[in-house]
Amino acid sequence: MACAPVGVLLIRPLSNYIQDELSKRYTLFKYWQAPPHLRRDFLRKHSDSIRAVVGNGVQGADGEIIDALPHLEIIASHSSGLDKIDLDKCRERGIRVTYTPDALTDEVADMAVLLTLATARRICAADRFVRNGGWKNADYALTTKFSGKAIGIIGLGRIGSAIAKRVEPFGCTISYHSRSEKPNSKYKYYNSVIDLASNSQILIVSCSLTHGTRHIINRDVINALGKNGIVINIGRGSHIDESELVSALAEGRLGGAGLDVLENEPEVPSLLLGLDNIVLSPHVGASTVETRKAMADLVVENLEAHFSNKPLLTPFI
Ligand code: NAP
Repeated sequence: MACAPVGVLLIRPLSNYIQDELSKRYTLFKYWQAPPHLRRDFLRKHSDSIRAVVGNGVQGADGEIIDALPHLEIIASHSSGLDKIDLDKCRERGIRVTYTPDALTDEVADMAVLLTLATARRICAADRFVRNGGWKNADYALTTKFSGKAIGIIGLGRIGSAIAKRVEPFGCTISYHSRSEKPNSKYKYYNSVIDLASNSQILIVSCSLTHGTRHIINRDVINALGKNGIVINIGRGSHIDESELVSALAEGRLGGAGLDVLENEPEVPSLLLGLDNIVLSPHVGASTVETRKAMADLVVENLEAHFSNKPLLTPFI
């Protein structure tokens, strides 16, 4: 008797490439195409065949989706952050979880350096100045030197370490805060984020988002960093208490910020839009053709391994 085709639930519209690759192998159900008020019915209707879910760092599989899928065996996330997946529920139910960690490390670290330089040198505001004809009437305001700065990295994991490697040749001194001190690291470790901020000029957030790291950048950390300090976030929006960040920037208690992620993205606090000491990007840390393809391939290979009873390539659970 032929086996029933495996159903894969794709939560968000990822690239055409991954949709094509998944469609070639599985019956693909496109969650976002169901109107929001009919999504429960959509899951119920297809729950007998759905054995895998593919989501990403913006939308994964919450408890409600997992509960609606009794035959779910694996969640293959097109992301390295897994904060949008109910991991406790996956552990309870024995659902495997894979992710795409190393495939995007370089890209996101590049983005962190790009945002840091762009924020220090106010390159987006300078671009607007030229386009708006300001150059004809005045010199552009002086900005901040990046080379040689004291950089504090929150989360010296894959991406944090790749950022450290990139900023070292700029003559920067590097310190970090993580859950634990890295025994083989040459960088200075701070057990407290406040102490790290007090001893840094630029703070870069690259830790995973958990209960322990939500709002890890708060009013006290911002004040410890000081009025010339710069905050860069390529982690998740909720790492920063955004209303505190916005008021610190507006009141001149913080020098600048470069943000690839926001707390309620794609919503942007209107006050931020009026500030010249920030650089914003729309959660595109890993969004290049090359890296997205590598991530897509890893998602597909993990699913193929699972459904042919081979070891997963990048298991988290
Ligand atoms: P990783 O290798 O797992 O590193 C995570 C780091 O977070 C580790 O250094 C870990 O510290 C630290 N951490 C975890 N809990 C902490 C806590 N309570 N306090 C302080 N530090 C804590 O992950 P990665 O691949 O570098 O990715 C990091 C994050 O980047 C992802 O989780 C994701 O949110 C974000 N990301 C963003 C984009 C984007 O497009 N902007 C793309 C990819 C990833 P220990 O080493 O001490 O455990």
